[in-house]
Amino acid sequence: MQILDGKLVSEAIKAQLAAQVAELKAAGKKVPHLAAILVGNNPASETYVASKVKSCAECGYNSTLLRFDAQISEKHLLDQIILLNENPDVDGILVQLPLPKHINEELVINTIDPSKDVDGFHPMNVGKMVSGLPAFIPATPYGIMLLLEHYNIPTKGKHAVVIGRSHIVGTPMSILLSRNTNPGNCTVTLTHSHTHNLSEICREADIIIAAIGKPDFVTADMVKEGAVIVDVGINRVEDASKKSGFRLKGDVKFDEVAPKCSYISPVPGGVGPMTIAALLKNTYHATIGLKGSMN
Ligand code: NAD
Repeated sequence: MQILDGKLVSEAIKAQLAAQVAELKAAGKKVPHLAAILVGNNPASETYVASKVKSCAECGYNSTLLRFDAQISEKHLLDQIILLNENPDVDGILVQLPLPKHINEELVINTIDPSKDVDGFHPMNVGKMVSGLPAFIPATPYGIMLLLEHYNIPTKGKHAVVIGRSHIVGTPMSILLSRNTNPGNCTVTLTHSHTHNLSEICREADIIIAAIGKPDFVTADMVKEGAVIVDVGINRVEDASKKSGFRLKGDVKFDEVAPKCSYISPVPGGVGPMTIAALLKNTYHATIGLKGSMN
């Protein structure tokens, strides 16, 4: 069994981006600028945004963090996005989700200029991704593709089972794995909360992408010997021994599943850091005028 070490791979990607940004700077060109919007103070969102801003600095990017009270009106938030759209110095815009209930997330996402939509959630980018056109790909699935690519995981003709069909992870993941690319060319089964016989389906999988949001959901009896497991879940479980009072757990019961796998991504240190690396790649591509990061 080999670990899909997202921390290591993301560091390598960030080092490469830092070198590319240094070249831009040396040539007197514009360096990437990511603008992040954080509404309210959801502790998990605070952590995610803080690591994104920190990673920008590590790679020589400029970043702006716009923080708003949870009571911000939808109109005011949309106005802020329009200002960022119009600001030529800003290359990438990300709005940390989830947003407070009174704000229409769809409207917010639709307001972001697709050429600055480095989270890849705008319908224009989603449509292009589905059509196989250059598009900004949502950072988590893009990060997983980069991880599979780094470890040269054979995917052609393999049966991939994606558990979870969110717009952020499961659905785009199923599309990317089924495309005629490498990694890709998988036969994909997209499963969700209404799927019957999930365990049986998983036992037939060469590759499992677990994106459910339930700790220890995937157990050893659901996994075929030699399967590749990518654990997307980030679940906070109580742990009195930690200063924070919690620890992070994936969607896969790592200790019992790992011995059966050929490759497995850990939590933390797997998909999480790859998501940030992918976001930075999208932002770099937006800066140099590309219309996306994968085709
Ligand atoms: P979500 O809640 O939007 O979607 C969960 C999906 O799981 C749904 O499509 C649902 O149908 C499916 N599901 C629920 N119960 C199921 C069951 N019993 N059997 C089969 N499918 C079932 O969650 P999400 O936003 O896709 O996130 C999933 C997990 O990934 C969460 O733990 C989240 O924190 C994590 N996440 C991690 C990263 C990262 O960077 N590592 C990024 C995004 C999300």
